[in-house]
Formats: sequence, structure tokens, C-alpha cells
Amino acid sequence: MSKKGDARIPVGILGATGVVGQRLVRLLEDHPWFRLATVTASDRSAGLPYAEAARWIQSGPIPEEAADLVVRPTEPMAGVPMVFSALDSSVAGPLEKGFAEAGILVVSNASNHRMGRQVPLLVPEVNPEHLDLVDGQEYPEGGGIITNPNCSTIGLSLVLGPLHAAFGVEAVQVVTMQALSGAGLPGHAALEMQDNVIPFIPGEEEKLEEETLKILGVRGEGGVTPAAFPVSAQCNRVPVSDGHTALVSLKFVEPVSPEEAAAHLASFQGLPQELGLPFAPRRPIHVLSDHRHPQPRLHRDLEEGMAVSVGRIRPCRINDLRMVILSHNTVRGAAGGALLCGELAVAEKKIPGVRPPVPTDDR
Ligand code: NAP
Repeated sequence: MSKKGDARIPVGILGATGVVGQRLVRLLEDHPWFRLATVTASDRSAGLPYAEAARWIQSGPIPEEAADLVVRPTEPMAGVPMVFSALDSSVAGPLEKGFAEAGILVVSNASNHRMGRQVPLLVPEVNPEHLDLVDGQEYPEGGGIITNPNCSTIGLSLVLGPLHAAFGVEAVQVVTMQALSGAGLPGHAALEMQDNVIPFIPGEEEKLEEETLKILGVRGEGGVTPAAFPVSAQCNRVPVSDGHTALVSLKFVEPVSPEEAAAHLASFQGLPQELGLPFAPRRPIHVLSDHRHPQPRLHRDLEEGMAVSVGRIRPCRINDLRMVILSHNTVRGAAGGALLCGELAVAEKKIPGVRPPVPTDDR
């Protein structure tokens, strides 16, 4: 129930019971702009109180404002101008389209619409100008689809973006070590993952190779011209709970030393920082100097999981530079990244009549 004087924007979560949906529930607790008004999931969960439907795996209790919400079937509802989708990609495509057709802005974590010509694939610090693509979508006023990239792609692109703008990236080789939470619920069996590494994640390498180029591409008439350099990705599932690590080797057009790259990354800021968006990290990229860093357990929660950390920036014998990038896959790589996209959409007036609420003392 809305608290007295609560002027926040009512939002919904589609697929609220899964790993990313739960993280969204957690991050929306006390959000200054958004109020969780409704949660949806599959027919298995619909009709149950959220606390009963969700197999809760986040630390801490289920936020009060979510626990008693009755899970609804995933169908458009009135009174909610924006929804965050954490639907399984086997069903997300047509369901999200249905919400957009009903005049609701969908911010999606699913892969289904990411490569659509008029669909923004956003890392808000890197390509905020791509948001305007949504204006060309053929949905009723207020309706549309904005997408959050693949979880590994977000960490990689957030670091490549400033480097590409300054020095011109010519080639990327990346090997990832991806956390268990990236596989969703119920995920891998414990026996399969303990003491083990699985050198294959279906569809993941293709997403890293294609989405990165769209994010770093140039927006023009009717779409994005993707960046032209090759990306070669190899992805592994490892027994880490949260936090994707990427080992990256880069070739540049302009010569760049490890010190120059480090200084450039450490000072990088984007539009979310300029606008002071509520979920924007103060510094999106933390450059770490200890040779043993970054590590998932130590660094995934930097700036509430919204900052990526970069370490071991050093020369490469094949390309120009090597480095290690760590990002929180369910925060920056999913729920938190989607929240930042939603905040940017509101700040940039993409929903008619919806503006950031003026803070009051009532909450
Ligand atoms: P998950 O744990 O498997 O959760 C999937 C959600 O979709 C659940 O809420 C589930 O509801 C709902 N769902 C399944 N079938 C449905 C149907 N027929 N109708 C309505 N709802 C249905 O998956 P996840 O890891 O949270 O991922 C969610 C999405 O985000 C996926 O598209 C994934 O690719 C993407 N993503 C995940 C990560 C990550 O790190 N995990 C990162 C980036 C992007 P029930 O509980 O009722 O079955």
C-alpha cells in the first residue's frame, strides 16, 4: 500500500520471483523515485503472497512492501507506467511486447528484444544517446521497450566505452569466469558445480560478441551502426555465488600505456553521474592497484554493486593491454543496471507526464 504522501512513481516487476526479480525487489526497497506497486510471475506463483511464492535467496528478510503483495499473472495492469522485466527469456518476448502495446514502458533484463533495430541496449554511462531510439518504436504513447545488456557484456562495455572513445579499440579477446547466480533459479546442481568449472554457457559468447558492438556503435537514422572491431569471447561457469570476472586482452588504434589507461578509467564519469541519478555510482570504474585484485568476494559490492573494478592493467604480448574486470552480475549486470536505465528514462522524460518526484519528509 502506498504510504501517506508517497509521491513516488508506481512500478511493477515482471518475473519477480527469480534471481533478478528478487534483486529488484531488494533494490527497490526505499528507492527515492520508484515504489514497488505490483509483482508478476508464472501461473505457478500467481495468486500467492510474494513471500510464499518466492524461493528467497537474498541476504536479509523480504522487504515489507513486497512480502504481502499478491503475485499477479504477467498481464498488463492499470496505474503502472513502467515495469522492470526479469522474465525468463523463453517467455519474455511476447509478454514484454504486450506491456509496451498497453502503453507501459518496459525496462527488460531478458535478451529477446536487445538486438531490435529501434531498441536501446543501454549502459547509461556509455551510450545514453541510444535511449532516443525508443521514440521510433511503434507503440501507443508511453509504451516501449528499453533493454539492459547481458550481465558480462555490461561490465566489459562499461570499461571498453571510455577506452574506445579515447584510444580506439581495434580487437578484444575476453575469457569470463561467471557466477552461479547468472544461471537463475534453480540453477546448477551443487554436485555439478562443486570443485568444478563448466566451459560452456549457452548463448553467452554470442551475446558478448554482438551486444558489445551495438553498445559501442553509433546511433544514426533508424538504428545503430555497430562498432567494427572483432570480439572473441570464451565463457565459463565457476563456483562463485555472485560476481562475473573477465580476463581481457585489447588492441588499440592509438598507442596507450597501462598508466594512461588506468588514469583514464579511474576518472571516467557519464551522464548518470552528471544528472545525479539515485542509483548511479559515484565512480563507475574503480581501478585497483594490488596485483591480487579484483576478487569477487572482496570487490563485487563496491558502491552497492554498481561500480565495476579493474585490476592488473599491464602490457600484452599479443595485443596491447591486458586487464581483469569484475562486475556484480545481478546488480550492475541486471537489476541495478535496469534501475539505472529506468531512472535515465524518467530523467529524460520518456514517459509522458511522469517526472522524478520532489522529495518530501513523509517517507
Ligand atoms: P529465473 O531465476 O529463472 O527467474 C525467471 C522468472 O520468470 C521467474 O520469476 C519465473 O516465475 C518467471 N517466469 C517463468 N516462466 C514464466 C511464464 N510462463 N510467465 C510468466 N513468468 C514466468 O531467471 P533470472 O536469473 O532471474 O533471469 C531473469 C532474466 O534476466 C532472464 O531473461 C535472464 O536471461 C536475464 N538476466 C539474468 C542475469 C543473472 O545474473 N541471473 C543477468 C542478466 C540478465 P516463477 O517463479 O513463477 O516460475
